[in-house]
Amino acid sequence: MKIKIIALDFDGVINDSVYECYLLTLEAFNKMGGKLEKSKELEKNFRKARAFVISAYDYHFISMAIQHERKDFGKVTVKEFDKLREKYNKGKEEFFNNFYKARKDWRERNMKKWVMANKTFPQASDFKRISRKYKTLIATTRDKESALLLLKEKGFDYKESGMLSREDGTSKTEHMKKIMGRFSVKPGEILFIEDMFESAKKTNAMGVKAVLVSWGYSNQAQRDKAKKMGIPIIKNDKVFEQIEGLL
Ligand SMILES: [Mg+2]
Repeated sequence: MKIKIIALDFDGVINDSVYECYLLTLEAFNKMGGKLEKSKELEKNFRKARAFVISAYDYHFISMAIQHERKDFGKVTVKEFDKLREKYNKGKEEFFNNFYKARKDWRERNMKKWVMANKTFPQASDFKRISRKYKTLIATTRDKESALLLLKEKGFDYKESGMLSREDGTSKTEHMKKIMGRFSVKPGEILFIEDMFESAKKTNAMGVKAVLVSWGYSNQAQRDKAKKMGIPIIKNDKVFEQIEGLL
């Protein structure tokens, strides 16, 4: 089946938001009585924990597990992470609200600094070329406003109509269904480029041609698993050519 639409995840594929999320998490968590202090070691552990994050709730579980158990997220499995989700369920709503409020406040207070806390992956230039040549959409679980702002800052030309965001659904499977409806395409006609194993797995299961990038926030164990399931892995360089090879 011929690919008609390329859907691009944003955080972990184009935008490296891990530092921004780390700072927001500290602010949101400590506001509700948490005692995490900024350090290089904490930042490193946070980056490893990012492999399990599906929504901002997960930053609450990560913070709790670090504060109360000194959890090292280099050694955690998906199953163990699910247990942390149950164990530290209390307080997650307050955290979630604090997190998004902190992001909004930061953006309003100092937009330039907020933008700078979001780095750009070097592969972004390949995605610019892809989006100029092929029908491409952004599929992000981030809020529309901040995604559009960051895309513009990074030199991407996307309008609201070219994007699926948190407002369109909190999972990538919901986004794929919306794309199918909006553009009258079959799942097999969508190529979805993602950095998170769980999302690649779930969209792949619905018939979408999901691929996983080797940068971003998945870990090696997750990429190995994806490969075994037949999900292609995009290597770090010549990304444009690799994607064209999948069309
Ligand atoms: Mg991502």
